[in-house]
Amino acid sequence: MNIILLGPPGAGKGTQARRLEERHGIVQLSTGDMLRAAVAAGTPLGLQAKAVMDRGELVPDDVMVGLIDARIVADDCRRGFILDGFPRTAAQASALDAMLERRGLGLDAVIELAVDEPALVERITGRFTCARCGTGYHDRFKRPRVDGVCDVCGNSQFVRRADDNAVTVRTRLKAYRDQTAPILPYYRERGLLHTVDGMAEMAKVGAAIDEVLSETATAATEH
Ligand code: ADP
Ligand code: ADP
Ligand code: ZN
Repeated sequence: MNIILLGPPGAGKGTQARRLEERHGIVQLSTGDMLRAAVAAGTPLGLQAKAVMDRGELVPDDVMVGLIDARIVADDCRRGFILDGFPRTAAQASALDAMLERRGLGLDAVIELAVDEPALVERITGRFTCARCGTGYHDRFKRPRVDGVCDVCGNSQFVRRADDNAVTVRTRLKAYRDQTAPILPYYRERGLLHTVDGMAEMAKVGAAIDEVLSETATAATEH
């Protein structure tokens, strides 16, 4: 099963992608995580991307398309993948179609997580992750069970993203409105788009996504 999770920064894409990974054995491909790994490793791509990310703008399409094109051929993608943070522009969406077609792959569903802007700002400014395993947390909405200790791996170091601040979030939300939201109709017209209420609590959002995916699977066997 190949899925796209679409939604503004802070909508819950990463949270839900990780849940889907565990439950359905499909792999999360987060372009944001790939870029942050490149920044941490100090590769030429990382050096180029860092300034753009810190401003809250989008990294050039050809760079992003190249990253995904190289990634979806890996062995772990054979059972399917969840695109988290890609595509973000019309050019990326059409490049994705071309690369899937070239490889005889398809898209099963595009899931939009709808969350209103004040909630997004609160989610982003309170976000932190485990420095070792990457599990996501929130100051208000998902604190570790034991303060200062990761629920999953027991590590006690956490990180906050440089771009998760109240100023940069405005640019990122604008980039979403101007460049990413316009690709929603492209998927709606093809009958692939499913909008899920991302304002609900995490477990409810997960259940709504599971429902969409089981309907999609049923529809596929009926054809
Ligand atoms: P969020 O979790 O807020 O949605 P991501 O982790 O997906 O953010 O992305 C962080 C930053 O990485 C973006 O603001 C952008 O600069 C860059 N980025 C990630 N994915 C893409 C993409 N598909 N196209 C262009 N830039 C991207
Ligand atoms: P994205 O990948 O779309 O940028 P994340 O999954 O990182 O979003 O979620 C952003 C922040 O909001 C995280 O701190 C996460 O713990 C929290 N969060 C995610 N889903 C919900 C939800 N349904 N309700 C409240 N907080 C949430
Ligand atoms: Zn951890």
